[in-house]
Amino acid sequence: DSTFMPAYLAKLNAEQRLAVEHGDGMVSRPLLVIAGAGSGKTSTLAHRVAHLIVRGADPRRILLMTFSRRAASEMAKRVERIAGEVLGRDASVITDALTWTGTFHGIGARLLRDYAMEIGLDPAFTIHDREDSADLMNLVRHEFGFSKTEARFPTKGTCLAIYSRTVNAQAPLGGVLGSVFPWCAGWAEQLKALFAGYVEAKQAQNVLDYDDLLLYWAQMASEPEISAHLGGRFDHVLVDEYQDTNRLQASILTALKPDGSGLTVVGDDAQSIYSFRAAEVRNILDFPKQFAQPAEIVMLERNYRSTETILAAANAVIGEASERFTKNLRSERKSAEKPKLVNVRDETEQASYVCQAILAERETGTALKAQAVLFRASHHSGPLEIELTRRNIPFVKFGGLKFLDAAHVKDMLAVLRFAENPRDRVAGFRVLQLLPGIGPSAANAIVETMATSLDEAMGLARYRPPQRAAEDWPGFVTLFSQLRAGSKKWPADLEQVRLWYEPHLERIHEDATMRRADLLQLEQIAAGYASRERFLTELTLDPPDATSDEAGPPHRDEDYLILSTIHSAKGQEWKNVFVLNTVDGCIPIDLGVGSKEEIDEERRLLYVAMTRAKDSLHLVMPQRFFVHGQAARGDRHVYASRSRFIPASILSAFEQTAWASVQPKDDPRRQPQVRIDLGARMRGMWK
Ligand code: ATP
Ligand code: MG
Repeated sequence: DSTFMPAYLAKLNAEQRLAVEHGDGMVSRPLLVIAGAGSGKTSTLAHRVAHLIVRGADPRRILLMTFSRRAASEMAKRVERIAGEVLGRDASVITDALTWTGTFHGIGARLLRDYAMEIGLDPAFTIHDREDSADLMNLVRHEFGFSKTEARFPTKGTCLAIYSRTVNAQAPLGGVLGSVFPWCAGWAEQLKALFAGYVEAKQAQNVLDYDDLLLYWAQMASEPEISAHLGGRFDHVLVDEYQDTNRLQASILTALKPDGSGLTVVGDDAQSIYSFRAAEVRNILDFPKQFAQPAEIVMLERNYRSTETILAAANAVIGEASERFTKNLRSERKSAEKPKLVNVRDETEQASYVCQAILAERETGTALKAQAVLFRASHHSGPLEIELTRRNIPFVKFGGLKFLDAAHVKDMLAVLRFAENPRDRVAGFRVLQLLPGIGPSAANAIVETMATSLDEAMGLARYRPPQRAAEDWPGFVTLFSQLRAGSKKWPADLEQVRLWYEPHLERIHEDATMRRADLLQLEQIAAGYASRERFLTELTLDPPDATSDEAGPPHRDEDYLILSTIHSAKGQEWKNVFVLNTVDGCIPIDLGVGSKEEIDEERRLLYVAMTRAKDSLHLVMPQRFFVHGQAARGDRHVYASRSRFIPASILSAFEQTAWASVQPKDDPRRQPQVRIDLGARMRGMWK
């Protein structure tokens, strides 16, 4: 009887309600929600968590995993709103208790610190980001002499990619080499030795890389002594965007909940876009078959996000895919406006087009925040960023270069990390070499001295620096021992690091003033974290994004445009969406056309991009685009044609237009005097 139904349930459609009420708050059979874009999967998940809490589940015993930390905190806020409405008490109490929300990696890091003692891990471990990992791989590579004797040995980045792939796909090295890195297959023996050395180095230095967070977690969860306790901590485990999880992540879920009880996963196989990170679309397809008890499967069929015309075009694009499980969705949002295919001359014109369209929209009352520009590769937005800056249009860019990638920010963090874990060589080498007079061999000697000492700070103090470093040495020793002792309260120790670092910054960089602003911003960010350890862990796992504003990210209430790679746009929606470079060579990217699988993944990417749009969608097609030079071929322009994912057969789903920054009507001299129709001539020849 719907009169007794709480308002939050009444708003849902029948299938969504089924998913939300499945088990009615109790621990129950595994649940899979599989459905297309914009059908309310994420929204259903938030309602389900709220419903569990309303029905008495303990929020501290709910584990909720999403694709990004941002998505997790948004989800928590939503749960607070929905549950708060019904429970009527201060809803922030609920979210404060809903502490186990985050990404797989973030949750893994927290659990590993909790259980470190039990699994023989030093709880002071530090985490390496991809760049640190590559640096460590490089150190080991040098130690083994592979970089010298073997001239064409894979680069540090390739070595790391192979290693990571092997770990995440849980596949043997030989297989990974054969199928993904065939040009490295000749190095199998050396790579085996290198990886063994890399793993050993990580253990000796008490550092974990991204993959280790999952690897240790999976291992820990399957150890009989720990698994029952670990799995017993959570009554409900829920995962969004399940199509983009890999084998290792799936194995973590089954280790936590071997019979699937209390498990909920949601996703869309048509949006699987992370296979390059070994994501396994089979995870979601195989989910129902995994457990002794049958899973409840819910499919959603209505799209609430996009207009009918946008959805029709997106369905047409994905309809050409060779393999697909979810069905086409329907929308009830009528619209006369088809998505636009916009022809422009080049990327500069593309940037002007997007800027004027966005400003025109803003004139009619659509905030910048309600609009987004998406692209396949981070560098595609270069000309647009220049144009936006020129026109003073503020923006935030997701998925591009991160704030933390800046050398000076990395230096600061390395100091903290070195103090947190003096065995972390990548951090140590970076920090020590900031001091004038200390190069790689001195840095090496210092860490060796520290390692043989019972107390690292004392070991550091014992070291006699070379003459050139003598002046700066005592200051560093003092800083290090104070950081080690934790004598200052967080985030005051970060300020202490900055004061120590500033003279070095000025010596190393000419643009020190600008960089100093970043350091101050880092302190502001730091203030939002409870401890040095949480700050380091969370920043490493999910770094803040770069912005157009040197003073830092715009405040919440300011208006700014979103620029994002398609990968980072996952799960989100905007009123207006622009997709840059919808041409062959960009979508699909020229690296992504090797196999049928790769092309299919590129198609799904375009589908993801298109289904972000609510009311209007512009696919922009520059007639030529710029390619950054590789080796002999140099920088060059490439003439482009419409993306192969929009073949002539589906063109009727779009409105085709052309745009030029100088319109003929503005300049009468530019009106055409004669019309030469080459097309007509050529058509005759092609017959
Ligand atoms: P994606 O596959 O892109 O992650 P999704 O399936 O997770 O999409 P949501 O983001 O949850 O979809 O929802 C898309 C939009 O539809 C949101 O704006 C949401 O508020 C709205 N929506 C979902 N369900 C309903 C409903 N029953 N009634 C009205 N609006 C709804
Ligand atoms: Mg979603």
